[in-house]
Amino acid sequence: MAPMLLVVAEVADGQLTKLSAEIATLAAGLAASSGGSALGLVVDGAPDTAAAELAAYLPRVVSVSSAAAADEAWAPHAAAEARRLADEGVTHVLAGVTNDGRDVAGLLCGALGWGVLANASGAAWADGQLVVEAMVLAGKAITRSTVDGPAAIVTVRSGAMDAAERGTPGAVEVREPLGAPLVPAPRVLDRVAEAGAEASLEEAKIVVVGGRGVGGPEGFALVDELASLLGGVTGASRAAVDAGWIPYARQIGQTGKVVRPALYLSLGVSGAMQHRAGMQGSQTVIAINRDPDAPVGEIADLFVIGDLFEVGPALAAEIRTRRGA
Ligand SMILES: Cc1cc2nc3c(=O)[nH]c(=O)nc-3n(C[C@H](O)[C@H](O)[C@H](O)COP(=O)(O)OP(=O)(O)OC[C@H]3O[C@@H](n4cnc5c(N)ncnc54)[C@H](O)[C@@H]3O)c2cc1C
Repeated sequence: MAPMLLVVAEVADGQLTKLSAEIATLAAGLAASSGGSALGLVVDGAPDTAAAELAAYLPRVVSVSSAAAADEAWAPHAAAEARRLADEGVTHVLAGVTNDGRDVAGLLCGALGWGVLANASGAAWADGQLVVEAMVLAGKAITRSTVDGPAAIVTVRSGAMDAAERGTPGAVEVREPLGAPLVPAPRVLDRVAEAGAEASLEEAKIVVVGGRGVGGPEGFALVDELASLLGGVTGASRAAVDAGWIPYARQIGQTGKVVRPALYLSLGVSGAMQHRAGMQGSQTVIAINRDPDAPVGEIADLFVIGDLFEVGPALAAEIRTRRGA
């Protein structure tokens, strides 16, 4: 039986998340290389925009407008719709490595009895089985895993691949919601935006990161200034977060967010292995550090050895000059 891959997409502020676009690209490639098919699922209070966006990556998208999914915990509703599609022939479900994506995977694992391959950083077919790569030990090693049988659930990390639109947009099929979640869904009483979470680190093309070397919360003024000048988003090392200088939402690394920007610029970050786990997929890495032996120098495309309080302001001034501002 040819595989049928389902992407359970996520929506943020009415738009398809970057991670979902990446997973859709992965699924389309896996479908093409197996002679199978791929489709997407969008479940949201207002799914139209995200469904149209997802159709740029997949030939078929099922769009479910569900007020309940917006008012209650999303995953039980999304999982119910995904199970319906599993009943219609889906063999592999792909969701994001996010709180909601993990919940969907767990719920479907219970409902369908399919195995879960977690934290994929890549996937390919081998002898008809889906084999998933996952980074372990903070990116020092990669495992390759599969589950026996024709069906599986996979959670995919951010940055597993670049999102690439298809030539022709796919068809969007609008469906009525099932009405009942897979398991009783908690009702959300209140939503409070996490401080510092307004700009998405994972979606950013430019990330400017401050570490312990910035010396205190006031040091992040320079990091924020550079991020703003470059049109990027501020990130941080765990040392800076643990010190209380910046919210956890900004942390990059093994126990923080995974970023894969076109440009990663760090100030006063040593480049510990747990930090690298969250940024080693960056396309270009520029690091400013006064220690020539800092490990970040091993992975930097441009390693600026100097005091960040001299180099940073000089860089900001140069950007302003070149912009004529
Ligand atoms: C289980 C586990 C999970 C972890 N998860 C994460 C994670 O998700 N993310 C993460 O970041 N870390 C994580 N860590 C912590 C990690 O091991 C490091 O301790 C941390 O990344 C160090 O942060 P830092 O580079 O800001 O600080 P430091 O290692 O102290 O480095 C500061 C750097 O700033 C430089 N510096 C100081 N002053 C200046 C100056 N004026 N100008 C220029 N350079 C200067 C120094 O030379 C130094 O290289 C984890 C650790 C463990 C054990």
